[in-house]
Amino acid sequence: MASQRQIRVGDVPIGGGAPVAVQTMTKTETANVAETLAQIRRVAEAGADLVRCAVPRDDDVQALKTIVRESPIPIIADIHFNHTLAIKAIEAGAHCIRINPGNIGGPEKVAEVVATAKRHDVPIRVGVNSGSLPKHLRDLEYSDPVEALVRAAVETVELMERLDFDQFKVSMKSTSVPNTIASNRRLSERIPYPLHLGITEAGTKYTGSLKSAVGLGTLLADGIGDTVRISLSTFHAEEEVKVAWEILKALKLREKGPVLIACPTCGRLQFDMDSVVAEVERRLEAYEDPIEVSVLGCAVNGIGEARHADFGITGAKDAGMIFSKGEPLKKVPTDQLVDELFKEIDRYYASGKTV
Ligand code: SF4
Repeated sequence: MASQRQIRVGDVPIGGGAPVAVQTMTKTETANVAETLAQIRRVAEAGADLVRCAVPRDDDVQALKTIVRESPIPIIADIHFNHTLAIKAIEAGAHCIRINPGNIGGPEKVAEVVATAKRHDVPIRVGVNSGSLPKHLRDLEYSDPVEALVRAAVETVELMERLDFDQFKVSMKSTSVPNTIASNRRLSERIPYPLHLGITEAGTKYTGSLKSAVGLGTLLADGIGDTVRISLSTFHAEEEVKVAWEILKALKLREKGPVLIACPTCGRLQFDMDSVVAEVERRLEAYEDPIEVSVLGCAVNGIGEARHADFGITGAKDAGMIFSKGEPLKKVPTDQLVDELFKEIDRYYASGKTV
């Protein structure tokens, strides 16, 4: 069930019907202001709505002041173990903080953080993690790991409510895709607060993207989840942002830039389609509208398979066809297909039309 409540992280609404927000996490040492800001600008350029920075030391809190001031997108400070750092991060201007109430030092310390958040009107992401569940849930974790996660999250929510605080979102992280799906489904039925989705330690670009697409995609298709982060083992945080966008675009939850459709090829293929697809994808990066462009290996099923594409090409051995909305526009030599396709796209825009 979609969350009923809405919070705001800086100027980004989360939950309550707002578009699913894309976030990522910087992989630089936060105290290195220049490198951290450079990475934040890259992820913002790639489409991140929010970015989280690890704040494990006082030096990072100091850096946070400049980072918050100069960042083009809201900053979430990520704190573990040390509640004074959470308080200092709020005072340094963080737009949101992320804490795990299970490792921040007990309910009294959480209460101190919440009191500071209230004073500064800063929301909190409260996260529970399958790797650090409270001791009293350990037995349950063995018999029913999904219920253990959900119960830990609900206990955290109840603590927030006892503290008379409702400006928070909740995350439950697990390395297991089925447990992530089951626990978020169950939690979404029990609480009205926004949910942050992610598969923790998902893996490399290939496996991590797939696990995230399956886990997060399943939940998002059900209308569950208000903000997402794809965790990938790569230094380039912008890759996480691109994957998140592809998932949201595939589900038609948000639009951003062109959508490329390409057939898988088969024995009918008679030209170097790999290079053509790569070149079309590269050139499409310069376009901002959500045009659909298809690249198909042959005319047998090609045009019919991509009838809804705004533009497309079907290749063949010597000459291919350029088409638009399922209608052929012109036949051109195969080595000129890409150039001619983009001439048609540019001509369309020059005529003042929009998709
Ligand atoms: Fe095969 Fe042609 Fe279909 Fe591509 S469009 S998969 S080449 S039949």
